[in-house]
Amino acid sequence: MNDSQGRTINYLRLSVTDRCNLRCQYCMPSDGIDQVSCKDILRFEDFLRIVEAATTLGVRKVRITGGEPLVRKGVIGFIQQVAQTAGIDEVTLTTNGLLLCGQAHALKSAGAQRLNVSIDSLQEENYKAITRGGDLAKVFRGLAEAEAVGLKIKLNMVVMRGVNDHEIIPFASLSQEKDWSIRFIEYMPTIREPDWKEKIVTSRDILTQLQNRFDLQPLSSGRLSGPAKPYRIAGAPGTIGIISPMSDHFCGSCNRIRITSTGFAKSCLLDQGAVDLRPDLAAPGIECMQKTLQRVIQSKPPRHQLDKDLDPSTAFSMAKIGG
Ligand code: SAM
Ligand code: SF4
Repeated sequence: MNDSQGRTINYLRLSVTDRCNLRCQYCMPSDGIDQVSCKDILRFEDFLRIVEAATTLGVRKVRITGGEPLVRKGVIGFIQQVAQTAGIDEVTLTTNGLLLCGQAHALKSAGAQRLNVSIDSLQEENYKAITRGGDLAKVFRGLAEAEAVGLKIKLNMVVMRGVNDHEIIPFASLSQEKDWSIRFIEYMPTIREPDWKEKIVTSRDILTQLQNRFDLQPLSSGRLSGPAKPYRIAGAPGTIGIISPMSDHFCGSCNRIRITSTGFAKSCLLDQGAVDLRPDLAAPGIECMQKTLQRVIQSKPPRHQLDKDLDPSTAFSMAKIGG
């Protein structure tokens, strides 16, 4: 279905939990976030009804995210059900990768085709500091397993000045060794850290660093591909993507809506608006839900205002909405 700006919405992101086994500096305050009560988190069967309704409006791709989706019990069975839903072409997962070990095979069998794994440093100590305690070696064991079972892999790195921007080149070099997509994401001041301005490294700066070092060739984007501008280092098996939500927002080609773990539909990650789907979940069938989702799509704002609205009172954690 098209929204009021003529954008085709074919991509649904489901945040299946607000819980997480990490506390990344840029995503959550050190003492975490107020967790919603278990009883307020949608049941998988409710998410499935939302997926079903969304497919009637043209959604073809679903991403499972969180919080950390792999901490939610039963998530692999849920992925299988989503993958088997009529109309769905692609199911993917965004994860910090810590719980991938021992689960990659089941994920592949369930129908997940690709994984986005968030890793912001290739240096053990730096990774531990950024994630406030994560074990990088464990993530790489999970990645090896995922690779062995044939899951396609994207690595997401949020670039922060003075934190991990010295690792842009080593990250990009991974695409020369592996058939992975290495994606650099501009840091967004969602939790309004006091020093957020100094932390932003623009996509232009990232690109300049890469071009100074490599022969970088631009690629074309696919139908269900996201906002990343894709490149390949000449001769590399893998690719590179640069995502610039701040300096060059990609709202004009945004194709997605989101559902929070408590059942609110959001047509824009960075907009305050959210529509409660629980009354529709209480109604029989999917007709009411279809109508509500149509309204959500129609009211999708033309662009986000994060660069304008930096009021601390509107700070939020991506873990609540699903990044
Ligand atoms: N826990 C999973 C993970 O980390 O991949 C899934 C949820 S996480 C909220 C989804 C994505 O949001 C991650 O790739 C994370 O790096 C990104 N993210 C969170 N806060 C961000 C911020 N302030 N700026 C840019 N990306 C952010
Ligand atoms: Fe957890 Fe992902 Fe947020 Fe890190 S980015 S704290 S792993 S939800």
